[in-house]
Amino acid sequence: MKIDPVCNKEVPETTPYTVEHGCKVYYFCSAECMKKYDYMGKSVIRLKHNLEEKKRVSFGKLRKEIIKPGICTLCGACAASCRSIIISSVPKLVGPCTSCGVCYNQCPRTITTEEELVGRIRFAYGARNTLDCLHGGQDGGVVTALITYALEEGLIDCAVVTTHTKEEPWKPVAIIAERCEDLLPSSGSIYSHSMTMEALMDAIQRGMRSIAFVGPSCNIDAVYKMQKSPYGFLRIFMRSNVLKLGLFCMDTFSYEGIKEFVEMHDMRLVDIDSMKIRKGKFEFSTGDDVSTFSLDEFDQYRSSSCKYCTDLTAENADISFGGIGTPEGYTTVLARSSIGYEIFNEAVATGYIEARPLEEKEMDRVLHLAKLKKVQMYGLSRRNKT
Ligand SMILES: Cc1cc2nc3c(=O)[nH]c(=O)nc-3n(C[C@H](O)[C@H](O)[C@H](O)COP(=O)(O)OP(=O)(O)OC[C@H]3O[C@@H](n4cnc5c(N)ncnc54)[C@H](O)[C@@H]3O)c2cc1C
Ligand code: SF4
Ligand code: SF4
Ligand code: SF4
Repeated sequence: MKIDPVCNKEVPETTPYTVEHGCKVYYFCSAECMKKYDYMGKSVIRLKHNLEEKKRVSFGKLRKEIIKPGICTLCGACAASCRSIIISSVPKLVGPCTSCGVCYNQCPRTITTEEELVGRIRFAYGARNTLDCLHGGQDGGVVTALITYALEEGLIDCAVVTTHTKEEPWKPVAIIAERCEDLLPSSGSIYSHSMTMEALMDAIQRGMRSIAFVGPSCNIDAVYKMQKSPYGFLRIFMRSNVLKLGLFCMDTFSYEGIKEFVEMHDMRLVDIDSMKIRKGKFEFSTGDDVSTFSLDEFDQYRSSSCKYCTDLTAENADISFGGIGTPEGYTTVLARSSIGYEIFNEAVATGYIEARPLEEKEMDRVLHLAKLKKVQMYGLSRRNKT
């Protein structure tokens, strides 16, 4: 006797109602049960027609990304959606594959939505500052311009930003900027961990109740935790409004490591005007000279925590900012919360920032790198290019 997979009744092998799926034959007690089983098949066919061309991938991709590395949970969603797949010890392809992408899109272990890669976004922009007083900025100088707007309008009491000191210009120092003069020197990126939370706590203890806070996802997550955790400081004792301005981040490196590297290459940190990481290269600019090195050479100086970090775009921020996606001189901006969206658009409307919608191909670049960072979680591929 066989078991009808729809109603679980026993069925004789001689039943006329049978369906072949992969190498298996399924036996049904009635035409009705067989129809119900077939309905699934029709849904799959409809889905195949609807899947966009670029989302069509073969079973090989599922095998490479999920099954081979041992991430598969044996949930059976792939086999349930395709008659060419069976689950034995692992999912196996036993029939033709048309590369329709249906199995890949059902698997709970694949990443297929934008939100899974970069979090919730209200609107995405390419933007740059329009301030006369700001010379440069890491990308479009948008973070600094936005904080300038918020300070000048009295929307915030201060901003926690990271800046350079004269003696050790590339050692990050977190400060509380209450005036634009203090803020402007903080524009630009320093690629080492900054102790931003200490400065935030200081600002709160000094009675600041509305604070802009800038940092990469690990810093933003610390604030988020203090706001959301049942015993978080910002939830229980310190009732300050913190506007979280997140920075995209692939890696940071130890200050001592960067110093050692620079000196090994006959440069001095005090002479370097700016540092930039792009397309797998670390660039050091001194006057008109730019020295470029492969990021691989900095592997030994990479902060160990960054190897386990999967959040490129600071998903818990009110607004996130990065250089990926947009051309030189622009910042990619992801407005997330309603307060973030409003304040950014006010800064645009009042002329501190100019902005346009982010183009699809620009967003695709962000999504591509976000995926590289996410799959670290599974150890699928160790990222070495940014
Ligand atoms: C460590 C680090 C790694 C980054 N990696 C990437 C990346 O891989 N890809 C990408 O697209 N973008 C990355 N960024 C973000 C990018 O470099 C710019 O900060 C972002 O595009 C905003 O540019 P802007 O010109 O609008 O900002 P600006 O107006 O120049 O303002 C920059 C802001 O960054 C803050 N800041 C600088 N260094 C630090 C630090 N160490 N910790 C906390 N805050 C800091 C300053 O306080 C300032 O407010 C990284 C930034 C940092 C700090
Ligand atoms: S035909 Fe089957 S195995 Fe191939 S991609 Fe489509 S659902 Fe996956
Ligand atoms: S859908 Fe994904 S997790 Fe589930 S059995 Fe198939 S490969 Fe494994
Ligand atoms: S990679 Fe992650 S952990 Fe490392 S500095 Fe950036 S946000 Fe923080």
